[in-house]
Amino acid sequence: MIKRLTVIGVGLIGGSLALALRRAGEVGHVTGVGRSLANLELAEQRGIIDAYTTNAAEAVTQADMVVIAVSVGASGEIFNTVRSALPASAVITDVGSAKGSVVAAARTALGDRFPRFVAGHPIAGTEHSGAGAAFVDLYVDHKVVLTPEPDTDQDALAQVGAMWTAVGADVISMPVDAHDRALAATSHLPHLLAFNLVDMLAQHEDGESIFDFAAGGFRDFTRIASSSPQMWTEIALANRDAVLASGRDYAERFEALLLALERGDSEALLAIFESARHTRNRNIVQVRKDGE
Ligand code: NAP
Repeated sequence: MIKRLTVIGVGLIGGSLALALRRAGEVGHVTGVGRSLANLELAEQRGIIDAYTTNAAEAVTQADMVVIAVSVGASGEIFNTVRSALPASAVITDVGSAKGSVVAAARTALGDRFPRFVAGHPIAGTEHSGAGAAFVDLYVDHKVVLTPEPDTDQDALAQVGAMWTAVGADVISMPVDAHDRALAATSHLPHLLAFNLVDMLAQHEDGESIFDFAAGGFRDFTRIASSSPQMWTEIALANRDAVLASGRDYAERFEALLLALERGDSEALLAIFESARHTRNRNIVQVRKDGE
C-alpha cells in the first residue's frame, strides 16, 4: 500500500491511476499537482485527489511514491524542480509515451537519486485529456512497460510494478531502445498518419463538406487525430529517430503500393491486403481494449 502518493499531472493517465489505486484500497492520501486550479478542483470534486497544489517541490516532501504524468516535454523541468525536495526513501516514476529522452533527463536532473526512478509507460489511453477524462478501469488487462536501467534500485522497481499490478495491469520490462522502436511503429507513426490524413482532407478543394462522406472506416482510422496536438508534438520530437525510421519505412512501402496500383498490379495489391488482414486478425481483433 502507498501511504502518500503525489501525482504530478492529474489528467487522463495520472487521474485514472489515482482513481484505480483508491478503488483497490492501495493508497492512503493523494496529492495532485498541476498548473491550472480548474483542473485540480475538478480532480478533487471527482474524488481523484485529497489535496492539491501548484508547487511540485512542496507536494513531494512527504511522498512515498511520486508519479509524473505530464507530457514528455515537461518532465525534465519537473525532475529538476522536485530533486532536492524528494525524501530519500521515495520512489519516483513516470508514464511518458517515449522513454529515451525522459530517462536521459531524469539521469541528469536526479543525479545520485536516479536509482529511485523507474521509467514506465502504460499501454492504455484514449484521445481525451484532463481530470474529467480519467476513469477507474483504464488499466485493467492492459500492459504497462517498465524500462529499468542497470542502476535502477530493485526495491523501487518492485514497488512500481506492484502499483500497476494492483490496478489490474500486466507489467512487463524491456530496454528503453526496444520500447521506443516498438512504440514508434505501433503508436507514434499511426498518430502522425491520422493527424496528417485529416489535415490533408481539411484542405480539400471541396472544403470541409468532404467530411459529410466520412463513415465508420474514416472514424475508426482517425479517432486518434482528436488527441492533444501539444502532447503528440512532444512525443514525436521526444522519439524523433525511431519515428523517422518507421515513417520512412512506411513512406517507401506506401510508394510501392501506389506504384502497384498505377500499373494495375492486382496480385501485388491483393498480397499486401491479404497479409495485412491475416496479421491484424491474428494479433489485434481479440485485443479490443488496447489503447495508446
Ligand atoms: P493530460 O490528460 O493532458 O494530463 C496531463 C496533465 O498534466 C494535465 O492535467 C495538466 O494540467 C498537467 N500538466 C501539464 N504540464 C504540467 C506541468 N508542467 N506541471 C504540472 N502539471 C502539468 O495528458 P495524459 O493523456 O494524461 O498524458 C500524460 C502523459 O501520459 C504523457 O506523457 C503521455 O505521453 C502519457 N501517455 C498518454 C496516453 C494517452 O493515451 N493519452 C497513454 C499512455 C501514456 P494543467 O494543464 O492544469 O497543468
